[in-house]
Amino acid sequence: MKELFDVAVIGAGMAGILAARDLSQKGHSVVLLEGRDRVGGRTFTTEAFGTELELGGTYVHWTHPTIWHELQRHDISVFPPLDSEKAYWLADGDVHSGTMNDYYEALNPLMSHLVHDARSQFPMPFNVSASANDVDQESLEDRIVSLGLSAYERDILEGAMSGLVHSYREQGVAQLLQGVSGTFGDYNGFFETASFWHIEGGTKRLAAAMMSESTATLRLQTPVQSISDNGSFVTVTTRADEDIHARFVITALPINTLDDITIKPELPAPVQSMIGSKNPVMASKIYVRAKGTIEPFNAFAPAGKNPINAARVESRYEGDTLIMCICSDAAAIQANDHEAVQEALRKFVPEIEVVDTASHDWGTDEFSQGGWGWYRPGNLTGAAPLMRQRHGRIFFAGSDIASLGAGFIEGAMQTGVIAAREVATALANGE
Ligand SMILES: Cc1cc2nc3c(=O)[nH]c(=O)nc-3n(C[C@H](O)[C@H](O)[C@H](O)COP(=O)(O)OP(=O)(O)OC[C@H]3O[C@@H](n4cnc5c(N)ncnc54)[C@H](O)[C@@H]3O)c2cc1C
Repeated sequence: MKELFDVAVIGAGMAGILAARDLSQKGHSVVLLEGRDRVGGRTFTTEAFGTELELGGTYVHWTHPTIWHELQRHDISVFPPLDSEKAYWLADGDVHSGTMNDYYEALNPLMSHLVHDARSQFPMPFNVSASANDVDQESLEDRIVSLGLSAYERDILEGAMSGLVHSYREQGVAQLLQGVSGTFGDYNGFFETASFWHIEGGTKRLAAAMMSESTATLRLQTPVQSISDNGSFVTVTTRADEDIHARFVITALPINTLDDITIKPELPAPVQSMIGSKNPVMASKIYVRAKGTIEPFNAFAPAGKNPINAARVESRYEGDTLIMCICSDAAAIQANDHEAVQEALRKFVPEIEVVDTASHDWGTDEFSQGGWGWYRPGNLTGAAPLMRQRHGRIFFAGSDIASLGAGFIEGAMQTGVIAAREVATALANGE
């Protein structure tokens, strides 16, 4: 055996970066294996239109404890998008418009009804085992249907969630209830944490700051194809057929990529089933550069009823307007088809002229194979806690299997911190 690392961390997204940083800072020898030619995973600050944009995970919040701790530690601040008073919402076949207050007047009673039991179902949102697992069997669609809404009301409600939803049928309601419980039962609070505050300098800056404190050996462009635990140590085999040995492994990969990796011994059946059924979110984000100064607005359309389902003016750039768009179904529109993007935006604001677009297709990207994580019914309280337990010398981390904060950068970081702590304990015990 060439070298035996204390820990091999697989995947240099926010979960893997933090796990590798924490363990290497404790003096353990760590190798961080990453398939791409960059760190950050589903966070991706890149240059487009001559400026820096976030094509993946973006918004963070001071109520997200782990990320806020890291931002403070590295003296990085956050900033909001442009203030917008104008709202457009597609409901019952028509586009309606008004102030944001008008929109909230229509939405508030519906959303409050939808999440009325958030705190009682998740009294301790950080501890899902304290929650009834019945509610975890419900899909978003089951819950919406149970409210007996008119077509207009249902579209308002579905439109408000469209920035998080690919499929109301495949995504469970429990993750939404847990998130809302985490913001004291206030759904507006939850949506603010999910979709508002940008990191100064981008997620790239935060990832670089955390990496600068790490002494882990980073190996980019090193995709892993198998992980085998023989009880004494773990062998990680790369696609280039190189064997890397470590006492412990932290697998911090998107759940949709795990089917491509052979893991031995086999994982418990419910975990295999969760991996096999995949994270259902196949959504995308498109940044649009629109000609001239467009009045700031927010727009909402239910998933499946417009190729662009949530749009918001974020900022100005060289006399033009930058609009962030969420497409619930990435396959419903080609991001580089300016005509199609313009048509989808003109549904709300007829005078919009698209100058340029920027996007990343996370669904067809082999190293993500999907968007942000969202549990299918049953998995939040069922297979995910089981997957977070240690499996011999293999530990799992990543936002897709997080408890509180799943689907967010926060969830990724929490799982990274926890996996690092558990591995450090095992190493300290001489295992
Ligand atoms: C379009 C979009 C918008 C989002 N918006 C937000 C938001 O505003 N706020 C928010 O908090 N969250 C948002 N998210 C979610 C957030 O980005 C993710 O939850 C989080 O970044 C996931 O981190 P992770 O470390 O768990 O996984 P990842 O970031 O996916 O990291 C996993 C790493 O593993 C690597 N990898 C994959 N396969 C292999 C392999 N075989 N071998 C080696 N390496 C491999 C990948 O390249 C990647 O670097 C968004 C996500 C998307 C896609």
